[in-house]
Amino acid sequence: MASLKSQQFGEFDLINTYFLRNSSAISAPNQEGVNVLLGIGDDCALLAPPPKDHIIAVTSDMLVENRHFFSDADPKLLGHKCLAVNLSDLAAMGAKPTAFTLSIALTHINHDWLAAFSEGLHVISDRFDCPLIGGDTTSGPLTISITAIGHLPKNTALKRSNAVVGDDIWVSGEVGDARYVLGILRGEWPTIAGYENFSHRMNAPEPRVDLGIALRGLAHAAVDISDGLLGDLQHILKASHCNAVIQIDQVPVSALFNTLGQDLRRLCSLRGGDDYELCFTAPTRHAAQIEAIGRNLNLRLTKIGQITEAMKDVDSANTSTHQFGRMHLIDQEGNSLNDTQTQIYLKSFDHFETS
Ligand code: ADP
Ligand code: MG
Repeated sequence: MASLKSQQFGEFDLINTYFLRNSSAISAPNQEGVNVLLGIGDDCALLAPPPKDHIIAVTSDMLVENRHFFSDADPKLLGHKCLAVNLSDLAAMGAKPTAFTLSIALTHINHDWLAAFSEGLHVISDRFDCPLIGGDTTSGPLTISITAIGHLPKNTALKRSNAVVGDDIWVSGEVGDARYVLGILRGEWPTIAGYENFSHRMNAPEPRVDLGIALRGLAHAAVDISDGLLGDLQHILKASHCNAVIQIDQVPVSALFNTLGQDLRRLCSLRGGDDYELCFTAPTRHAAQIEAIGRNLNLRLTKIGQITEAMKDVDSANTSTHQFGRMHLIDQEGNSLNDTQTQIYLKSFDHFETS
């Protein structure tokens, strides 16, 4: 649908100028032999099937102006972020990226914005060997929707339903910076000197693709931390019908939190989102191998707790039900947090929440 025409420069000029690249670059098989046979320009892109005994992973993420990013967001960083959050979902499944599509609504054609946005997008696309193979372009409120495709060997997916009682719970990198920076920009807490050095954690997250791939066969379940560590971990607990015990003061945070006090550190690290680190569970017998992966990737990997059995509740009629998705939070003194405190940290971001 040609809906973005300006006098000389229409929808197809836009696609050709900013999104179509050297098409021969994507007709060569990538490292694992996945072949994009046809990219941008026809009614569909064409992909060859993945390598033998691999399956295909598909994910979509949408970014809406003033909902997921500020109107004055740096377009180059935005180009990075909109693909990064999709690659992060592939990482959380243990999938290697294959290709992606981009559907974009624009209020008008702004060449400076499009040049910077597409540059940010193409840089990360090249880094992860994940070409843009098609999409849709229309006019409308600024909205960016990406669908990313990846592949992984059968039976190695890090599904949310795969956690096992006794598994260690791990977190990659450091969490909380993105939430802290957002709070400064929103005026929720005072600004501090040097916070800008951490704003890339919110604006340019690094998808943990290599980690996800390295964890195949070692980890059981994984989730990427987009809405808040504990809230996202709870998805694993519910899907796997289990509970967890978490040492909340062992959750890894950056030097930003050295002087900020315990309450803010806990709030940002446990409940803040947008860090796009991985939270995963793995049997204790794999701990040494997981630590070695962290050293190889030069990525901090920290054990923060353990998967525990679902609690059995017996009611007055003597029927028992299992309560899962519960978290037992323990502080550095070994004290358990009460239910009210626990609920505060568990509350993660929900787009349709009304309160
Ligand atoms: P159709 O009308 O057949 O759906 P379009 O006119 O929308 O096709 O798009 C023409 C070609 O440009 C298609 O190959 C499509 O995948 C590609 N395309 C459109 N928008 C984008 C975009 N934002 N990024 C990459 N490719 C795009
Ligand atoms: Mg179309």
